[in-house]
Amino acid sequence: MLDVLPLADSVTKLAARCAYCGAPALFSLRIAADVRQEVVGGADKYAPVCRRHYAQLETGLRPAGPAQGCAGA
Ligand SMILES: [Zn+2]
Repeated sequence: MLDVLPLADSVTKLAARCAYCGAPALFSLRIAADVRQEVVGGADKYAPVCRRHYAQLETGLRPAGPAQGCAGA
């Protein structure tokens, strides 16, 4: 990809929606209890999250929930 990127006229970055608030999800949060450094898995082990929910859940805080929403990332 790095070879063709300088030749592109435009770049479109796609993002999933946060599993908690629907904002653009720029991070993948491991939701499985597996603590190994590398864990291969899909939706059963990872969830797309926005920056706010990634920070909250990585520090062990409970997510705010959909009612408060996110301003986006
Ligand atoms: Zn979120």
